[in-house]
Amino acid sequence: MSNGTRIDPEEREPRAIKIRQPKHTGRKIFLSVLGVLCAAAVIGAGVFAYVNFGDYFEFDKFGKTEEESQSSESEISEESEPEEPVVPEEPESVPESSSEPEIPEEPIVPEEPVVEEDPIPRDEWFMLLVNRENPLPEDFGVETVLIDNENHTVDSRIAEDLSAMISAGEAEGLDFIFYTAYRSVNKQRELFEAGKTDAAPGTSEHNCGLAVDIGCRTGEFDGSPEEAWLLAHAHEYGFILRYPEGKEDITGFSHEPWHFRYVGKEQAKLIFESGLCLEEYLA
Ligand SMILES: [Zn+2]
Repeated sequence: MSNGTRIDPEEREPRAIKIRQPKHTGRKIFLSVLGVLCAAAVIGAGVFAYVNFGDYFEFDKFGKTEEESQSSESEISEESEPEEPVVPEEPESVPESSSEPEIPEEPIVPEEPVVEEDPIPRDEWFMLLVNRENPLPEDFGVETVLIDNENHTVDSRIAEDLSAMISAGEAEGLDFIFYTAYRSVNKQRELFEAGKTDAAPGTSEHNCGLAVDIGCRTGEFDGSPEEAWLLAHAHEYGFILRYPEGKEDITGFSHEPWHFRYVGKEQAKLIFESGLCLEEYLA
């Protein structure tokens, strides 16, 4: 019996141990559940990060492939993506020209505005700049024609417009007279050496045949109706007041209300409206 009693406690002890074992298994289960939860949390975080950041970084790639490879999505591979940035340039050129072969003609267009930036025909004969810093050559020659009965001549190419201007003024009751017109470079030298002019040979606009000194038969020209009419209408016939008041330092000549210079109708209008002297206009 004693053995039985001894056995009982021995049996109880293992039982007690067995009772303790469920406690350990409970903790293990608890810890394992926590582990599973932690693992699930880590996996969930990873999935969350992959879904968000993964889609974010790969969105561009997928976005490009979907837009740029609408016709052939399967053909385009990852290797073709670096070459695709060139594609956006095509949509820009497409609306400009419906057909692709016309694209090479477009680069010519930018060259045209370059010409438009400088509408002044500087190389034309009527835009010739003559002043103290830009003298005419010794052998400068020009075809001239008479403009009155006093042997005044001008470049034959301006005679028609000059005659039209004088006739228009005379039609309004005005009376003009020419004081000076074309003067050869040699004649300019004679006057310069004689001290009759301060303009050296080739530096006077009269040497080129494009300028005339206009006066009136009835009194002073300065302040006359003839002067007022020329100031208002000379540009309509291609002439400008060459030495305006206030431009002496630029033109190199004092104000000469009688000196008119031919520059062509188009340029005369532009210069007249700009208020610039010829040196400023050509600068
Ligand atoms: Zn003059």
